[in-house]
Amino acid sequence: MIIAIDGPAAAGKGTLARRLADHFGLALLDTGLLYRAVGMAVARQNADLDDPGVAEAAAIALKPQDLEARDLRTDAAADAASRVSAVPGVRKALLEFQRGFAAHPPDAKQGAVLDGRDIGTVVCPDADVKLFITASAEVRAERRYKELLDRGLEAIHGRVLADMKERDARDSDRAVSPLEPAKDAHQLDTSDLDADQAFAAALGFINSANT
Ligand code: C5P
Repeated sequence: MIIAIDGPAAAGKGTLARRLADHFGLALLDTGLLYRAVGMAVARQNADLDDPGVAEAAAIALKPQDLEARDLRTDAAADAASRVSAVPGVRKALLEFQRGFAAHPPDAKQGAVLDGRDIGTVVCPDADVKLFITASAEVRAERRYKELLDRGLEAIHGRVLADMKERDARDSDRAVSPLEPAKDAHQLDTSDLDADQAFAAALGFINSANT
């Protein structure tokens, strides 16, 4: 079973993906981590994040251990990711890895949950279930702001909201694989839902898809 989960930043995709993977005993791939690792590889070379050649070379050279870098969850990594992810050569280099993971999930699992921006549209167009998770920009910024404070980091609410909107625009407006729901995706707005309610709603979609 392949479950594709897409949506903008801080909509609740990551938590939902982890819970669904645990529930069904599936492998889990957070595809944003791949783009974050490419972005940080470029940043570490002090190279221009908008240079397509450098970004593509970093994507081709990506190794599994690069996904374990400690700085991948920072806002700097998110920003770098959203810039390199607009490069067609980067997306192409990462596509094969993502499709391979879905076709042959690790640990002999019988399927996988992949979350990102283009899983239902490009990476796994034949996924058994496609979910498109959204929430208002204000709610997503509030979640992100609290998460940063919980991690002991400084944050300014207005700045978090502005960054979120900027990243949304970049992800939605790019020419290749823009953020958009697949035609056959179930859309779930989590603005007024907690993690348990979002999980219950997703299970409802999955069960209806399998009956
Ligand atoms: O999901 P996450 O916030 O970690 O993603 C970071 C960035 O990576 C996104 O803003 C987006 O630009 C890019 N990304 C993408 N396609 C994916 C996953 C992430 O373009 N499948």
